[in-house]
Amino acid sequence: MGGGPSGAAAATHLAAAGVEVVVFERLRAPRWRASGVYSSPSTRARLAGLGLSEAALVRLIRPIDAMEVIGPGGTRCLLAYDAPDHACGIDRVRLERALLDRAAAAGACVREGAVVRTLAPREGRAPGSTLDVSTDDGPQRWNARMVVGADGPRSLVASAYGLGGHVRLSRRAGVTVHRADPDAASPGMPMTARMVIGDGWYCGICPVPEERVNVGIVMSEADLRARLRGGDGLAAVARSFTDHLHGPRAAWHDSTDTDAVTVALPLAHRVIRRSGRGFLLVGDASGFIDPLTGDGLLRAFISAELAAHAIVAARAGRSDAMDHYERRMHARFAPRDIVSWLLQAFLARPGLLEYALRRLATRTQLRATFARALAELEPAGRILEPRFLVRLLAP
Ligand SMILES: Cc1cc2nc3c(=O)[nH]c(=O)nc-3n(C[C@H](O)[C@H](O)[C@H](O)COP(=O)(O)OP(=O)(O)OC[C@H]3O[C@@H](n4cnc5c(N)ncnc54)[C@H](O)[C@@H]3O)c2cc1C
Repeated sequence: MGGGPSGAAAATHLAAAGVEVVVFERLRAPRWRASGVYSSPSTRARLAGLGLSEAALVRLIRPIDAMEVIGPGGTRCLLAYDAPDHACGIDRVRLERALLDRAAAAGACVREGAVVRTLAPREGRAPGSTLDVSTDDGPQRWNARMVVGADGPRSLVASAYGLGGHVRLSRRAGVTVHRADPDAASPGMPMTARMVIGDGWYCGICPVPEERVNVGIVMSEADLRARLRGGDGLAAVARSFTDHLHGPRAAWHDSTDTDAVTVALPLAHRVIRRSGRGFLLVGDASGFIDPLTGDGLLRAFISAELAAHAIVAARAGRSDAMDHYERRMHARFAPRDIVSWLLQAFLARPGLLEYALRRLATRTQLRATFARALAELEPAGRILEPRFLVRLLAP
């Protein structure tokens, strides 16, 4: 369920392994919606592993050679991603098209414009689910032995199995849009992304293909709602942030939006379990904290791969395959979740954040470790080691 990055990737792996798989995707065709475009250098290899050609990757990805972080007090810190480990600025809409096409080419039946309305788990000796699906040809009922919930943060699969919930502590909203970038480098040339952090908000600016930047602003949901009640539309909210960003001004600040400003709220979502008899959750459906770490897309691809292995193992008779998936997901992502919460704690204390950025800016080795761990080029646990934290914070 869901034909975003995690669903399309899971379907591709499963179909390639000979599993009969149907993808239900609500949208008739991919279109821009508030979501991620900045991703780890490892994402390129994952996409190649899904069968996307080098020529396709060049069209989909703007190489990113550094992320410049600007703190609330103006401290600037450059996290470098030198070749061959350039990070990725992704054309998200084209990526989704390419991934759904890959899934279809691998043998999956891809149903776009098919909205799953209800999902009823079946218990007993032959577990599975009954799905009621709205399509252009009318309502349909499907029986599935296994449902992969790839349906994003408000996962119907997670709620049908009684697993989901919002994270009350952190109700944040993400407002996103693309703008034309008159200063864009030639296609395929690396560019630098930027993260500007303010008091209670941050704004990521990521160059993507087609001479555009993606602008993503994360703020408290209460702040966004107050601005909207005050009469501002979403486009005006986005402009009011980008017009007053601290740090150097760039040509894209004054250029036109190339698509609609879209919003996601609330951002955080958690689940108490990611798998069980007859279902698995992948990507954002399996839990999401905040876009700041920039690891949602990579997590989508890794979880899709692990889920496909688990399903193939379960079909081969491995009775512990679902538990194994749960354990592998935990081992892989629990440290990253702690890093994500740690960064949230820094965001909530602008003075401490500024101090940490100053320390990172002047310590080459510390900065390199932080950049690589954030991008999954090294285990996230490196950032949590007492030695790292002491070197970062000790006066
Ligand atoms: C504002 C914002 C900024 C972000 N920035 C970054 C970033 O810089 N880097 C990064 O890596 N990640 C970022 N993320 C997270 C990233 O977008 C997600 O991790 C990624 O999209 C997860 O992919 P997914 O396939 O699991 O879910 P989604 O992309 O949410 O896809 C879910 C799909 O399921 C479909 N669907 C849902 N319900 C149904 C239904 N009932 N029937 C049929 N189809 C259904 C939806 O239409 C959608 O296509 C950001 C997220 C937000 C909101």
